[in-house]
Amino acid sequence: MVEKMDEMKAILLKMKEETLKEINRAMKSGSETPTGEPSGDIYDQASSERDRELGLLLGDREREKLRNIDEALLKIDEGEYGICEECEEEIPVGRLKIVPFARYCVKCKADIEKQQAQTKRFEEDRVYREIGLGEEEEA
Ligand SMILES: [Zn+2]
Repeated sequence: MVEKMDEMKAILLKMKEETLKEINRAMKSGSETPTGEPSGDIYDQASSERDRELGLLLGDREREKLRNIDEALLKIDEGEYGICEECEEEIPVGRLKIVPFARYCVKCKADIEKQQAQTKRFEEDRVYREIGLGEEEEA
């Protein structure tokens, strides 16, 4: 058990290092202006704007990952690592090796994702109704 924790900690620390590198790269590419494209001012502006947004998006995803990794490292220190937050069952080592910062077992994760998908669909429906599209036009 202790050996497993050390192994997972090493994996997580390595992952953290790589994620930090990834964030740095994303931020750099986001602030760089692409050259060599002979096009109008407006197009250039729009394109670098989009690049920056892309960089920010990537940064967000990597930052989220970083937070997950930090949480997992904290859990190792507190002896709570590898326990599903939902059903409190042990998460199989096989899954932890693939997703070292997994917070849920496969079953709970699937349930949560299903729920999120439903919530999202519900919200989309609501938006469509609010802007007066959807059902009326279908009928
Ligand atoms: Zn679970």
